[in-house]
Formats: sequence, C-alpha cells, structure tokens
Amino acid sequence: MIGSNFWWFGRLLVLLVLIPQIYGWGKEGHIATCKIAEGLLTEEAAAGVQSLLPESAEGDFSSVCPWADTMRFHYYWSRALHYADTPDFRCNYSYCRDCHDNKNRKDRCVTGAIFNYTNQLMSRSDPQNTHNLTEALMFLGHFMGDAHQPLHCGFIGDEGGNSINLRWFKRKANLHHVWDTLMIETAMKTYYNRDLDTMIESIQRNISNGGFDDISSWDKCNATVCPNQYASESVNLACRYAYRNATPGVTLGDEYFDSRLPVMEKRLAQGGIRLAAVLNRIFSTSLPLAAE
Ligand SMILES: [Zn+2]
Repeated sequence: MIGSNFWWFGRLLVLLVLIPQIYGWGKEGHIATCKIAEGLLTEEAAAGVQSLLPESAEGDFSSVCPWADTMRFHYYWSRALHYADTPDFRCNYSYCRDCHDNKNRKDRCVTGAIFNYTNQLMSRSDPQNTHNLTEALMFLGHFMGDAHQPLHCGFIGDEGGNSINLRWFKRKANLHHVWDTLMIETAMKTYYNRDLDTMIESIQRNISNGGFDDISSWDKCNATVCPNQYASESVNLACRYAYRNATPGVTLGDEYFDSRLPVMEKRLAQGGIRLAAVLNRIFSTSLPLAAE
C-alpha cells in the first residue's frame, strides 16, 4: 500500500516537473525580458510599475514576470492565454483566425491577452475600473515575453513543438522546451558563466552599442501595443529557424544552437524593448496615444 502511494507520488512529481514545459519562456526568459524592459522605463513608468507591484516583489518587477506560469492551475481560464498557435505550415498569423482557445472562444490567446491587460492598465483612473491592476501588470509583463518566443505562435498540429520529441545534445527533450528553456540554459553555460545577469547584461550591451542593426524599427507601433506584429514575426521565425531541421527523433547540437542563439537573444531584446515602450505609453501622463 505504502509502495503504491509512493509510486503515485513519484508519477505526480514527474508530471509536475514536465508540465511547465508547455507554458512559455522558462523562468529565465521571462526575467530577462522584464529586466531589459526595466532598464528602459521612463521615470513616470518606473513609478507607475512600482506603485502596482505586490509587496513580495520587493520592488523588482522582473521577479513577478514568471508568476503567470504558476497560476495556470489556479486560474484555469488563463491557460490558453500563453500562446496563439497557427494552422500547420501556413507560416502566417491572423488575429481573427488564430486568437481563440481550444473551445473556439474568441480573444483567448496571447495577443488577445496583451490587448486586454493593456486596456485594463490604460483605464486605471476610470472609477468604473474594478480590475486587479497588479495582476494586469504581472500578466502583461509575462505575455509580452511569451508572444516573442517563436514557438508560442507555432503550429496547432504539434502544439507549438511540444509534441516534437528529439534530443537537445545528449538530453531527451521536446522542441518547445528547447526554445523555452534549454537554449537559454546552454547559452548561460557556454558563454555567460552560468549566470543569467551576465547574459542579460550582454544583451543590454548589444542594445546600447548597435549590436542589433534594425533596432530603430522594433517599436514602430501606431497604437499603445502591437501584439499582432509580434505574433506574425514569431510564426515566421518558427518556420525559418525553430522548426527547420528539427523533426521528431533528431539530435539538435552545435549547428542548431549556434545558428538559433542570435534569434533567441534578439527576441528577448525585442520583448524587453517593446514591453518598456508599452509601459512608457501606459503610464505617460502626456498622451495622446495615437500620435505615439
Ligand atoms: Zn507563459
């Protein structure tokens, strides 16, 4: 009897370890996105963010950015908000076609969530606004990261790479998890002394030293936020880089890692820069937004 209880407990533990693979940049990716954003906030926006952070954050915005992944069981409705998968091999994204949950309820996807939480924060001074703005901020910080992970706008048929089982170097993995977590882990180990802050600082240096050549175009956005653009880019990158040569059963190694790492670091940088831009617009007292 005791043995069988242990068996179930063991299975449960294995499940709990495996399940987080499905839900977005791993912890490190979300922290990186939000740390990059934090460094680019205006004084107004930084104060606005501070005023909404929960006490447990101790003033550190990036520490609450992985939070949404921990809430997926508690807030069951939020599960579909981490991604916007697209029809197989189309390599394009359309809000009307792709933004729904698995019961086809509209607006329940990562781009819909970004619109929704941006709107909640924008109307924070409206007395009718009864939303929990602390949660809105934490969700927005998280989903801006997810929308930039290419396989969060991957194909429906393979669940954004979750059902593509392969090897990452010697380790068994699925393709989605490679992009959420393993590539970042390998990068930290190979280039950044196993230290996330060193990796983030390197991306920040590339941002300020012109290491990304098209950076001035990253925040071309005629509204407060432009998640449809991020999702379109993501599925395009999924087709050109993430899925390419990553068929079931293969071993991904140096060649895949070296050629995809710049893509992954660029997406972290873009997520951070755009998150900062959105927060700067949200907390700006000198609107109008349309002119931004
Ligand atoms: Zn997520």
